[in-house]
Amino acid sequence: MVAWDSEHAARVLRTRGLDAFKLEQLTPANELDVVERGEDMLELVREARRRHVRSGLTPTMGALHAGHISLVEASRRECGMTIATIFVNPTQFGPDEDFDRYPRTLDDDLSQLRDAGASVCFVPAVDEMYPSGSSTMIAPPSVSQRWEGECRPGHFAGVATIVMKLLQLAPVDVAFFGSKDFQQARVIQEMVRDLRVAVEIRTCPIVREPDGLALSSRNRYLSSSEREVALGVPRCLQAAADAVSAGEQDPAALSRVMHGALHDVGIQRIDYAEVVDARSLEPLESLDRAAVAIVAAFVGQTRLIDNRELSPLPKS
Ligand code: AMP
Repeated sequence: MVAWDSEHAARVLRTRGLDAFKLEQLTPANELDVVERGEDMLELVREARRRHVRSGLTPTMGALHAGHISLVEASRRECGMTIATIFVNPTQFGPDEDFDRYPRTLDDDLSQLRDAGASVCFVPAVDEMYPSGSSTMIAPPSVSQRWEGECRPGHFAGVATIVMKLLQLAPVDVAFFGSKDFQQARVIQEMVRDLRVAVEIRTCPIVREPDGLALSSRNRYLSSSEREVALGVPRCLQAAADAVSAGEQDPAALSRVMHGALHDVGIQRIDYAEVVDARSLEPLESLDRAAVAIVAAFVGQTRLIDNRELSPLPKS
């Protein structure tokens, strides 16, 4: 493997037309550099910065689908250099979760990234991100405490830590996250604000299957009958939105509507199905500000999460 000194990074950028002051997307599709070492990643981003090329980062755990690719496309629209990372981060999985069986589909992922026109894919090994003896972890901000934070203890400390590490090795201008993981996006926004990290955070819309199921790497765990049942998850969000349109303004009543829609399709194991403040993620007393309906529930052994922003009815 080549070591990426600044000359090599400069050559790569030059061959792609990524020269100073050109902010438009110039990377030819089908050219994707796969980088494994943190120092090589860092050198590449530093070189882009020296040349005033805007860089964008899309962190993922791989098993890519159109939701991930939408983030890469958003990055391509505003950055000259688009970096995707693939790293199944052990510290964000609980001891009884699916770290070992999480889908790993690197060849297919790289081909999707190539087709999407990403410039670089950073694929570090575990000891690249957690050098032997590592013990430092980020204490995540207070928006991490409820919901996913309660159901998955330690999850957001793992997420915050890996995102901070990725931003150290790829100190990009902009980082792209999906609102599919609504609370995660809020955690990252608060963390970069609190820690004064010089990066802009973009949150992109949820990409769904035509029937409404949010794309997720974990959907591949679903059997065909479970796949049908899983539609109860987006439907419970739709039911909440419909109830709001019909005049319901009480978050507790909306939560009952969501639970009812999940029970209707036979989903019993519900971690939460609530309407919360879209900024603080605290429970709401009334629908008097930006709100989001959030749900996490099990279909068989597969835990699905989804959400939908709800706008209050305009005051008459
Ligand atoms: P993951 O690989 O699950 O860690 O996800 C990587 C990024 O892709 C996160 O920012 C997710 O929120 C985002 N993402 C996952 N699924 C979707 C989706 N269906 N639509 C939009 N973004 C998504």
